[in-house]
Amino acid sequence: MKLLEELEQLFVTPALATNRKVVVRTAPSPTGNLHIGTARLALFNYLFARKHGGKIILRIEDTDTTRSKKEFEDDILESLRWLSLSHDEFYRQSERGSVYQKHLLRLIKEKKAYLSREPSQSNPAVEIEVVRLRNQNRIISFEDEIRGTISFDTMELGDFVIARSLSDALYHFAVVVDDVEMGVTHVIRGDDHISNTPRHILIQEALGAPRPVYAHIPLVLAPDHSKLSKRHGATAIREYREQGFLPEALINYLALLGWNPGTTQELFTLSELIKEFDLSQVHKSGAIFDIEKLRWFNREYLRRLPPAEALALIGNALPEAIKALPHFSEERLQKVAPLLIERIAVFSDIAKLVKEEELQYFFERPAVAPEDLAWKDTNAATIAEHLQYLCEKLGDIPEKMFTQDTVREAIFGYATEKGRGAVLWPMRYALSGKKQSPDPFVLSGIFGKEETIARLTAASATIAK
Ligand code: GLU
Repeated sequence: MKLLEELEQLFVTPALATNRKVVVRTAPSPTGNLHIGTARLALFNYLFARKHGGKIILRIEDTDTTRSKKEFEDDILESLRWLSLSHDEFYRQSERGSVYQKHLLRLIKEKKAYLSREPSQSNPAVEIEVVRLRNQNRIISFEDEIRGTISFDTMELGDFVIARSLSDALYHFAVVVDDVEMGVTHVIRGDDHISNTPRHILIQEALGAPRPVYAHIPLVLAPDHSKLSKRHGATAIREYREQGFLPEALINYLALLGWNPGTTQELFTLSELIKEFDLSQVHKSGAIFDIEKLRWFNREYLRRLPPAEALALIGNALPEAIKALPHFSEERLQKVAPLLIERIAVFSDIAKLVKEEELQYFFERPAVAPEDLAWKDTNAATIAEHLQYLCEKLGDIPEKMFTQDTVREAIFGYATEKGRGAVLWPMRYALSGKKQSPDPFVLSGIFGKEETIARLTAASATIAK
């Protein structure tokens, strides 16, 4: 064994000189919509490349023709675009068969690989001619940026198959040929590929190519530490987009999933991330996906949206049933928007508020139950008296000056004198029909003079009955 290790040192092809321009690749297989974990790998590649002024290759690994689908490729491209993760060059492995064939023929000619007639694994009655790599059965060691030195005895791999036929290269061969042809200097990928790396290095060396720097990133795990999958909820970026998450929030969250900036800063724009990102700060263990933390980030970004943008997005997320209510208008929605934003973490939460009837009263007169109008044991006559007084007092405020502040000013003295609960509770309840809602001044400001007085009048009529 010792001897083998020493021999290995002689064989090691030096890692690509660091003064070469950085070239990375994101290499998704289009067998599903863009997965959270793949998006995070794309982000790490993106940050690393942009930080070093490098080039980003997007390579669709669609050699598995039974599982690869165009619709998934479309989703991957669209989702990456939505996240603002751009690339500089684009390839599809399915269009590169002749490149793989050229290298297969060369390896065969150089006796580094050979054609082998053997029974097909799927149908032993049929004989096929596969291409096998001549394995020198060495210990392969490589330096991983995240894991440190990793060694494998490649003896057990034997002369492994690199192509099913001259025109059908296997995944491992295609990946290595592409990385070599595309001048990839840094392979930043999931650590589920660590066990493939010795194979890749053997192929690389047979091709006489320099070794890229490897950084195997620990996978994203579910809270129970298993592989993140459908049963843990949404795994595709598309689903988060459809729920109304903001791309900036997802990017920020994904960047901190398994990487830390070494400070307590949590909110980063993409350009700040480019500046701060460093492979040496990537954690060595799996990163746990935490939906609550993602919601926290989204809430932070929602709060920071320019009002016009927030309004447009709320408009999109608002169910038609709300837009059909009698008092719905863009103007009213604009006034409700800041309150609404306070109550959600993501736009899909709006549907929940609607289900709990928390939004309807802004756009239609609420039903008011007389027994709920009264504050503690105040009697009905007193409540009606307070409501009537409020109507008169508010009637004196000129329409143009009717705001939350002028309403407060107009009635606060009276409320203090008569008991704030006794006056402000029925006022608030009359306006919202809810035991919990924003305070009556805020509500008056939203409804305006006419509607505020109309709601107070209606409630006072109810209690008078
Ligand atoms: N296509 C592979 C995957 O989706 C990635 C291969 C690589 O990064 O080397 O997992």
